[in-house]
Amino acid sequence: MQLQAARQAVVEQAGELAALTPGRTGNLSVRDGDAFAITPTAVPYDRFGVADVPVVGVDGEQRDGTMTPSSEVPMHASIYDRDDAGAIVHTHGEWSTTLAVAHEELPPIHYMILAVGKRVPVAEYARYGTDELAANIVEAMDEADSSAAIIANHGLVVTAEDVETAVENAHHVESIAKNYCEAKAAGFEPEELSEAELETALEAFGSYQQPGAEGGH
Ligand SMILES: [Zn+2]
Repeated sequence: MQLQAARQAVVEQAGELAALTPGRTGNLSVRDGDAFAITPTAVPYDRFGVADVPVVGVDGEQRDGTMTPSSEVPMHASIYDRDDAGAIVHTHGEWSTTLAVAHEELPPIHYMILAVGKRVPVAEYARYGTDELAANIVEAMDEADSSAAIIANHGLVVTAEDVETAVENAHHVESIAKNYCEAKAAGFEPEELSEAELETALEAFGSYQQPGAEGGH
């Protein structure tokens, strides 16, 4: 069986999507070399097994698995083609999508944004599942040097070295997006951290790639 460990990780983490996105929207994938395992399309997250999980090459062609892959294969393939990300989570999360409908990026109003970068940019709208949308997402992430992007009128995408981290970082982005929207709704003007403050926070994380690793502060 091709990519058995990656497919197992997809099965194990698929249930985590339920807390991040409504209904059966959203998808996730785990990479191994020049291919990735991805959630199947239109199947409840608890209704498929390892052999069902589609395996797709970074060229976008399905190689294994009994089920049809998510319609967002181009998004996943393009991101893997761009960098060495190990996993991708795509959601229609409530608060990131609130920013998405307003075409508003998420600025650095909380240091935990450093889990994905110094801001989360907005990728231009294109129809879901298209190569055009995939290109817009890669362009936005590159331009902002961020491992996450808000997708205009659509949702959120987060990449990381592994799927557990991608899921956790999607929660971080949702949380900060909520803080931002709620502060705005209350009539406050959220204060952004300065470049120097962000750099100092990054240094404090030291050798930890993952700001969350400092734990609970
Ligand atoms: Zn979507």
